[in-house]
Amino acid sequence: MNVPFLSFEAQHAPLSAALTQAFTRVLNSQWYVLGEEVKQFERAYSAFNEVAHTVGVANGLDALVLALRALGIGPGDEVIVPSNTYIATWLAVTQVGATIVPVEPDPATSNLDPARIAAAISPRTRAIMPVHLYGQACRMPEIMALAAQHQLFVVEDNAQAQGAAFDGRRTGSYGHINGTSFYPGKNLGALGDAGAVTTDDEALAQKVRVLRNYGSQQKYYNETIGYNSRLDELQAALLQVKLPVLPEWTRQRQQVATWYEQHLAGIAGLRLPQVAAGATHVYHLYVVHTPDRAGLQQHLGRQGIGTLIHYPIPPHLQQAYQSLSFSEGDFPIAEDLAATCLSLPMWPGMSESHVAAVATAIRSYH
Ligand SMILES: *Cc1c(COP(=O)(O)O)cnc(C)c1O
Repeated sequence: MNVPFLSFEAQHAPLSAALTQAFTRVLNSQWYVLGEEVKQFERAYSAFNEVAHTVGVANGLDALVLALRALGIGPGDEVIVPSNTYIATWLAVTQVGATIVPVEPDPATSNLDPARIAAAISPRTRAIMPVHLYGQACRMPEIMALAAQHQLFVVEDNAQAQGAAFDGRRTGSYGHINGTSFYPGKNLGALGDAGAVTTDDEALAQKVRVLRNYGSQQKYYNETIGYNSRLDELQAALLQVKLPVLPEWTRQRQQVATWYEQHLAGIAGLRLPQVAAGATHVYHLYVVHTPDRAGLQQHLGRQGIGTLIHYPIPPHLQQAYQSLSFSEGDFPIAEDLAATCLSLPMWPGMSESHVAAVATAIRSYH
């Protein structure tokens, strides 16, 4: 049996008529940027994410950039980021001119380790950016307590974890201001680029509304150096169709993870995802670790099983960050995770027989 890494079919087929209707509604409205669709989606997403304000923006990277800008973070400020995140988290800090301070993750969960964050705080630190990697919530209560103690802001990167929670509270609702992405492959995906900022702070939300729209509240009056980073009416309309189904898709992802746990139990040299006490995991990705990653990935490819690597090169070793003069060995946990991680097929609607086929192919290699 061929098992693709990702399939949208089970998600989109039942919504096809509703998505088409949403498209037609926007087409006929003759209003395509910053209108009622965006407002309605922002209200719906705020209710889902248990925050007072959502501000729709063009993509997840912009959400993080605008969040940092709203906090006034810039040159001379240090921002703590994970050493093993997707590069967007780092790029946001770079784009506002602030200094990146990478901190190693807990190797068991791949998420920021509060004890290591404490050791990286300096007099210039302004913010901490936890990333709920692969869909697992970071230990937010400890991170918020640490931030309060040192008077730091927290900006959650919730791009991979819509619907996850720690101690019953949603990710994307802990930080002072947070960013998320609706890139198509994310747990809540648009049919193109989209993102949002979430916050309980009305003043910060208002700053982002101004920043996303050329630094302007009143047309042709510009109060700050802004961006063009608006969520399209069309994407907002499509996202409104998908959002109500997200809890069901999350349950399906968690069911797939449970099947993986059962079918992959007891394979020597294969480490399955570990979920921290208090955290929920919404399995944006199902990531295993194995020292022989290249061999296993090739074997699975030959058996028709799609896999990917998230991510093969940690940000500090990317050519883009050569100027920071990091070298191999600087962040050994991130480097080891990058060398051993393998993302197995995971999508809502994946069946137990798909999971069994993946497991059989893995066992035939080990
Ligand atoms: C996808 C992602 C982003 C960026 O989102 P885009 O919408 O692609 O700009 C940021 N951080 C993380 C962790 C992501 O996975």
